[in-house]
Amino acid sequence: QGVDELLGLDKFTIDEENAHIRLNKEICANCKDKPCLVVCPAKLYKLNDNGEVSFDYAGCLECGTCRIMCKDKGIVLWKYPAGTLGVAFRCG
Ligand code: SF4
Repeated sequence: QGVDELLGLDKFTIDEENAHIRLNKEICANCKDKPCLVVCPAKLYKLNDNGEVSFDYAGCLECGTCRIMCKDKGIVLWKYPAGTLGVAFRCG
């Protein structure tokens, strides 16, 4: 099985009211390297046509890679989802 297939097995319970990761759009717009676009294994960061970074926390694997790689501190909040919310990994 490929990585994408394995990721497709995971189950997500989304906290619709509380994003566990939040970005500062202004900082992200001025960030030159935008490492988030390439490091996220779930490919949750996208570059819009207008140069803005868009992000959807649904589907987050809670790996923390973006938090570590974001040197310009555009990620203003990163915490694990509350309780049993978030990702549940499954192996097939
Ligand atoms: Fe992507 Fe991992 Fe950051 Fe979640 S924690 S947004 S999966 S890099």
